[in-house]
Amino acid sequence: MNQLEIQKFLTQKVSILNGVGAKIKQLLKRKRIEKISDLIWNLPESFTDRSNIKKLNDLEIGKITTINVKVVKYNFPRIRNLPNKVICDDETGKIEITFFNSREGYIRKALPLNARVIVSGKINYYKNKYQITNPSYIVPVSQESYVNRIIPKYSLTEGLTEKIYRKLIDQVLLKISNLNEWHDDTTLRKIGNTSWSNAVRNIHNDQNKNINSKSYRRLAYDEILSNLLVLSQIRKRIKKFKKIKKNFNNIVSQNIINNFGFQLTKNQHHIIDEINKDIKSDFKMFRLLQGDVGSGKTIISLIAAANVIESGWQVVLMAPTEILVNQHYELAKKIFKSSKINIKCLTGKTSNDEKKLIYKNLQNHKINFLIGTHALFQKNVIYKKLGLIIIDEQHKFGVKQRIELSNKGEKNCDILLMSATPIPRTLILTIYGDMDVSRLIEKPSNRKHILTFSKPDSKIEEVLLYIKKQIKNKSQIFWICPLISESKKLDYSAAIKKYEFLSKKFEKRVGLIHGKLNKDEKDKVLKKFLNGHLDILVSTTVIEVGIDFPNANVIVIENSNKFGLSQLHQLRGRVGRGENQGACILLYKNNLSKNAIRRIKILKSSNDGFYIAEEDMKLRGFGDVLGFQQSGVKDFKLADPIHHKDLFNLAEKNIKEIELNDKNFFKYNFLLKLFDKADIINQISEEKIIN
Ligand code: ADP
Ligand code: MG
Repeated sequence: MNQLEIQKFLTQKVSILNGVGAKIKQLLKRKRIEKISDLIWNLPESFTDRSNIKKLNDLEIGKITTINVKVVKYNFPRIRNLPNKVICDDETGKIEITFFNSREGYIRKALPLNARVIVSGKINYYKNKYQITNPSYIVPVSQESYVNRIIPKYSLTEGLTEKIYRKLIDQVLLKISNLNEWHDDTTLRKIGNTSWSNAVRNIHNDQNKNINSKSYRRLAYDEILSNLLVLSQIRKRIKKFKKIKKNFNNIVSQNIINNFGFQLTKNQHHIIDEINKDIKSDFKMFRLLQGDVGSGKTIISLIAAANVIESGWQVVLMAPTEILVNQHYELAKKIFKSSKINIKCLTGKTSNDEKKLIYKNLQNHKINFLIGTHALFQKNVIYKKLGLIIIDEQHKFGVKQRIELSNKGEKNCDILLMSATPIPRTLILTIYGDMDVSRLIEKPSNRKHILTFSKPDSKIEEVLLYIKKQIKNKSQIFWICPLISESKKLDYSAAIKKYEFLSKKFEKRVGLIHGKLNKDEKDKVLKKFLNGHLDILVSTTVIEVGIDFPNANVIVIENSNKFGLSQLHQLRGRVGRGENQGACILLYKNNLSKNAIRRIKILKSSNDGFYIAEEDMKLRGFGDVLGFQQSGVKDFKLADPIHHKDLFNLAEKNIKEIELNDKNFFKYNFLLKLFDKADIINQISEEKIIN
């Protein structure tokens, strides 16, 4: 096959392979294998050593072994449920091959009397005899080499045996050859000098190939590069979206800034400048504002809103929950009090009459600023002159959603996303390479370091005393009880028990939130807490990101070792926003693991979300770090930001020089197809690109 044919082959459905009928196709689908390339990326979990044929006087019980024997005698009992047996021997001894649930005809065919065969399976010893029960392989001696070797073991599903699967992957591995290299020589040398097809064959066949082997690294690099390639292509296209530039003199925003009652940090000023530049340019802004919880992103977005409104455009701000929307709405009303800006709020809860009025006033531009939930983007909401979309705390905004967003709104609309998920440096481009990124690292100077303690459960009385004192000082308390059992039927009992326990001790001024409550019930409790009608809020889940609880100063986290570092840090970030000193108390059962001790130490020593995310990644592997799942970065098949940090850096460097043009489109497009990314780019709205 030539390059083009191989390319085609890899993107075809598995059903073109020999041996894939409807049944096998279904089984493969269960393992998410539908295309040929999926077979390639389904890597062996381990390897079984079936090499080195053993004589029958040299067998080890319990060990997977391959033997070369002669079929001597059948023993097929006429009673149901008894196993069929075949006696075999070699010059040194005898062995019994035992079959449960198999038909005589099959056995006679696979093990013809007096023939020599190769059998491989686990050696048992039963009633003074060596046995192999339901062997994995029986082949004629002519096919010895197929069995007498190290064989990859894949994670498979019932009905899909190793034998069946091997036939499929072998067909694929045989066909992939002679691809022209797509990396330049220097890069290729740096990633191990292994061709793509050799690398693929190696990781499927050589048990010594691990995550740091040359073959693995080469393929991991391919994957990283394909990822960056997609994002950078999307970015380049979005960067071509022209718009009418917006003119403003910072009059409204300066007025707001003067009335804050605090100084903006240098970092905040810098980012405001970046955003202003984008807004004023004649290209569409597509920017992410990334900053730790409580770093002061909202203010920045409101200043951007003020400028866009001053220039005669409308602005929307979307947040994930009604409570957060209300907080933003109240804050915006307060901040814009002295201006003529007309702000409205739209959620699922807004009455129909109110909605109608809002729709009308959006169309005639009486409303300048609309804050709301998803309701903002429903079909019947039509804007007269939308100039900026701000999206707050949307974790589920992966690249596909971002593309949708970039296509949304009218052509002149700038876009600002905000996220509190601190992504380590290594991964910024990999996750957000399609956007411009502003990182808000500096915390407001009045922000106090949150005191972090760890205490064993046995000292809970001390904690209660501390809390009583805090409540007397008008502080509110979060009490987090994580779900312990990960069973499908979630277990809320710990939280309910704790709620009852605390209710007795604290005169019923305690609330409870858990995942079984619906949104309204949850909001009701949260509101009660926000309004100060509750002193303590017991909760199983992570409390909504982004909500400002000005009086919450203490967070108690039970079973704190059940959370990862980033998650603990985000939880901790919910308290200590106001005047009082914030505190975080990590409760744990006795006997902390080494890792847990290390986690607590890191948390106590640092309040920097970016640093903590980095450490978290080192401790747990990147796949489990909060926020990464949603961002899509977990979808890597091979690459790992910890083990392959250098490859990430290399790809970042190289991507700047790769221009996907007609000349190289073919080879890189192949890479995109291999990793299932070719289609994403084309979802960018072409009509917005004006060359
Ligand atoms: P987040 O980045 O989590 O969205 P917010 O924008 O909600 O953070 O800000 C958290 C709190 O810090 C708010 O009460 C806000 O008014 C306050 N704040 C923001 N910037 C500053 C600053 N430079 N100095 C002091 N307080 C600030
Ligand atoms: Mg926020």
